[in-house]
Amino acid sequence: MNVTVTDRDSEQAEKVTARVLLAADGVHSSVRQQLHPDTSFHWEGTRMFRGTAVREPFLDGATMTLIYGEEEKRFLA
Ligand SMILES: Cc1cc2nc3c(=O)[nH]c(=O)nc-3n(C[C@H](O)[C@H](O)[C@H](O)COP(=O)(O)OP(=O)(O)OC[C@H]3O[C@@H](n4cnc5c(N)ncnc54)[C@H](O)[C@@H]3O)c2cc1C
Repeated sequence: MNVTVTDRDSEQAEKVTARVLLAADGVHSSVRQQLHPDTSFHWEGTRMFRGTAVREPFLDGATMTLIYGEEEKRFLA
């Protein structure tokens, strides 16, 4: 595979040849868009809400609680 790597800060470009390209540029990966332009997102059905609160540590301070509710609703604390 031949790629041109451009440093965003210096804008210097370098041509690189390699057997493997490892892209770690996140969910909106420009590498994926270039290699697989026909792929798109699809919602897999999960909604998550997040909040924080200042409180005393729960048990050992590294413990989480997962409560299962109706219709696959879950509460994680
Ligand atoms: C609000 C929110 C809450 C989340 N909470 C959790 C959680 O509690 N637990 C959990 O497990 N996951 C959570 N996630 C998901 C988690 O953040 C992602 O799954 C994880 O960060 C993905 O890692 P990544 O390395 O693939 O991508 P990213 O963390 O997105 O890293 C991609 C990197 O590539 C860089 N980049 C992108 N394009 C370029 C480019 N052209 N050139 C150079 N650099 C580039 C970006 O600047 C970024 O630094 C949450 C996500 C969000 C948005």
